[in-house]
Order: sequence, then C-alpha cells, then structure tokens
Amino acid sequence: MKNVAVIYARVSSLKQVREGNGLSSQIAICNEHCKSHNFEAVEIFQDDTTGGSGDRKGLNSLKQWLVRNKAKNVVVVFDALSRLARDVRIYHEIKDAAIKAGARFSCPTFRFEDSPEGELSENIQISVDQFQRQQNAKQTKSRTKGRLINGYWCMKAPFGYRSDGKGKVMVPHETFAPIAKAALEGYASGHFQTHGEVRTFIEDHPDFKVGRKKPRVGNNFVKNLLSRSIYAGYFDYAPWGVPVTKGKHQPLISLETHKKIQDRLNQRVTAPFRKDIALDFPLRGFILCADCGSPLTSYWATNRKKVRYPYYECHKKGCASHRKAIPREKLEIEFEECLDQLQPSADIVVAARAMLKDMWDARRAHLAERRKSLTVDARKIEAEIESFLDRIVETTNPSIVSAYEKRVTHLQRQLAILEEQKANLDEKQPPFEDLFEHTIEILSTPCDIWRKRDIRWKRLVLKSVFAERLPYSRSEGLRTAKTTFAFKALSAPKGADEILVPPHGLEPRTY
Ligand SMILES: [Zn+2]
Repeated sequence: MKNVAVIYARVSSLKQVREGNGLSSQIAICNEHCKSHNFEAVEIFQDDTTGGSGDRKGLNSLKQWLVRNKAKNVVVVFDALSRLARDVRIYHEIKDAAIKAGARFSCPTFRFEDSPEGELSENIQISVDQFQRQQNAKQTKSRTKGRLINGYWCMKAPFGYRSDGKGKVMVPHETFAPIAKAALEGYASGHFQTHGEVRTFIEDHPDFKVGRKKPRVGNNFVKNLLSRSIYAGYFDYAPWGVPVTKGKHQPLISLETHKKIQDRLNQRVTAPFRKDIALDFPLRGFILCADCGSPLTSYWATNRKKVRYPYYECHKKGCASHRKAIPREKLEIEFEECLDQLQPSADIVVAARAMLKDMWDARRAHLAERRKSLTVDARKIEAEIESFLDRIVETTNPSIVSAYEKRVTHLQRQLAILEEQKANLDEKQPPFEDLFEHTIEILSTPCDIWRKRDIRWKRLVLKSVFAERLPYSRSEGLRTAKTTFAFKALSAPKGADEILVPPHGLEPRTY
C-alpha cells in the first residue's frame, strides 16, 4: 500500500524565487521524491513569507491536517530541512507536533533515521543551517558596511535619487532630483521659511504628482529631506558605526548649502536671506537716489487680489523721494536704453588684457593665501578629532563616549566642508584665457548679455561697463552714465571719448 504524503513548501525571500527556488520548483522536487519513494501526495501546503510576515498559515493548516488524519501514517515531504523552520527550537516544535500526530518526515536532501545517530545528524544539519543563515546575515552586513565605508550608499535611496542597479552608485532621479534640489536650495536661501512651505512646494509640484502614487508626503519627509547630508554628497550610518563618509554619488547641493540649511533648522538664522529678492532686482544697490545719493532698494508689493508688483524705492528717511515707489519695469527699460547707447571703444582689447592680467594675478595670490589658511584650519580640526578619539579610548563612561562621538562627527563634518572649500578654490581660478574671453564678450555685447543672461552675468555687465553707480531721478530719469575705460557713450560729443579708467580697476565691487 502506498504511503499517504503531504508536501510543504515555503519561500522566505525574493532572492530564493529569483534563483529558481520558488514554490513551484520546490513542489516539483517534492513530487519527484514522492514518486521515487512510492508515496501518494494528497495535499500541498505552502507559505510565502517574502512580505516579511511571520504568519505561516500553510504550516498551521498542515498541523491541523495531520491531527485530523492521525490514523493514516502520513509522510511529510519538504525539499530541505531549512524549509521548515528558521531555527532549531521551532524545528523541534514542528517535529514534535508531527510525531504526536503519528506522521514522519521525508526529504530528498536529508535521510531521516530513527536512531540516536540519526537524530544527532538531524540536529547537526538543522544547527548548521541556522548557523549558515546567521553567518550569511553577518556577511551581508559586513559587506554592506564595507560598501558604505567605500562611499557607496546601499540602503534605500532617499527621495531625489534612485538605485542604478545592484553594486552601482545611486543616481539622481530624473523626475524627483530637480524637485529635491529646488526644495533644498529654496529653504537654504530663505525662499521657503517653514517646513510647511517646503512641503506645499513639493506636493504642488506637477512632476511630483505625476510620478507618485500618493501625492501627499508624510510628517518626516521634509524633516529628513532638509537634515540629511546625503544630498550634499556625505553620509554616515550610526547603527553600524560608519563615520561621516564622502559618497561616490553625485550631490544635489553643495556642502555649504547643506550647512546653511542646518543653521536655519537650528534657528541660528532668524532673518530671511535677501538673496532671492536680489535675483528679482538686478539693479538693486546699483542705482542711486538722485535726491539723496543712497542706493535704491526694492520690494514686492501685494495688492488686495494677491497680485504681486515689483518696485524700487529710496529708503532714506527725510529724502524727498522717501518711499516713493518706482515700478521696476519703468526703471529697467530706461536702464536698457542707456545700455544701448554705449559701445565699446577701440582700444578695449589691449587695455582690458593688461588690467585683467593684473586682476588675475592678484586673485591668484589671494587664493593661495586662502588655501594656506584653509589647510591650517583643517590641520587644527584633524588634531582635535585625534584628541577626542584618544579620549574615547580612555573613557569607559558610555554617556561621555557618546558625547565625544557626537563631537567627532560634528568635527568631521566641518573638516569635510573645509575640504570642499579647498577643492572649490581650484575651480574658482579659471585659466586666464577663459576669463579674458568672457570679459571681452561682456565688453563687446553688454546689451545682449544683459537681456539674455542670468543675474550673475547682469552683475558682471554692471561691473565692467559702469565706472560708478547711476543716479536716478523720478522726474528726469537716469543721469548720464560714467562708463569704464572700455566704453564711451554713442551720444557723447566728439573729443569727449577719453578713456575713463575706473579708480578701482576691474576688481569686483560690492554693489
Ligand atoms: Zn533718496
């Protein structure tokens, strides 16, 4: 007579499924085993715990089935011992239940024997399985830790990044990286004042809605976004003692921006930055009030319908023009007309080259000085870190150790910032010829550049074209511009085109 058999199969990880150890292949192996041993397989029980649930319905039904079919001398078939249980204790619990119900085990990869030796080898096998699993987990951890220390972030990619496949550096997410970057930089600059504003910005972003199932973000989302240094290219992983590490991934923001955000989060900055408003008003600080000589400021006014209008105004108390609004457009159109009136003088190339060379040399000397002082600072911090590490070794009090560790992490971050600044210094000194070409371009087509390029170029135009700031009168408009050596006004009378050398050379001015 054939033995009655039941098959039990279980998958606990997607890896198992991928490697061909899925439920169906396990069942196939067990069926084969039944055939060769002349068992009649009457039921199949299976568990899929890939979702991390510890709920093993299949196993429980198997136990119940065994109790109901006690008299049938059942054989329980599974393809490996490890299939049945995660650890030795649970294995024996299940086995006891099976024996009570009069059933026995059979397995293609292990021969059960009803003898003390047989039981010993069964125990050894199941312990080895358990050991192997723990060992694997440990190895995975140490491998992962090694990857982290080498600069590869291999945990879940944060918002704005995506994994580029196993073992590869994570990459900025095509859709979300620009959103994350804009949110971070907006908060750093003070454009967004609160977490709520950042949150609204992200949630209302059209690309964000399209790309995600849930268009809302949770409470910790913004907090994590703002606080994580991973966006600046650095990460640590405290649970495994991974120190601050420079990641191999592409940063979305600079370390300085990250630091600004942290300062703002720590309330060290109370007043909003003015940077964003300056972006809207390229002439801010450059145009003077003709009545009192102080630079005009600018602002956005909002009317009752919540429409915003940009204005320049004199802010000096007691001035006749005090708080008399000048629409931005009016002033800027006049300014552009004035710019159109200018044309570069013929001697420009020769003169500009000599002056730029002077400026470039001065700048290089300055950068060398700065690099030296950054190096000194970095050495000081390194020494400080060293001394804290020594103290950690000498201290046994865990709360003091953790305070020291915090301090070390903080110092490592500072060190990383210094190193980034140092690296940036090298980029800040472009080759002379590049600089020269840029400048000639500005000098020969200032109006074009003013109209088409961004604020940084506009400021360059102001600096290279005008020898001094322009007074503006509300009744008469812009006063005649005093230009740098390179320009003369088209409308100037003949003979008045002597070269006007700016008293400050071409060094960047503060307006
Ligand atoms: Zn004034």
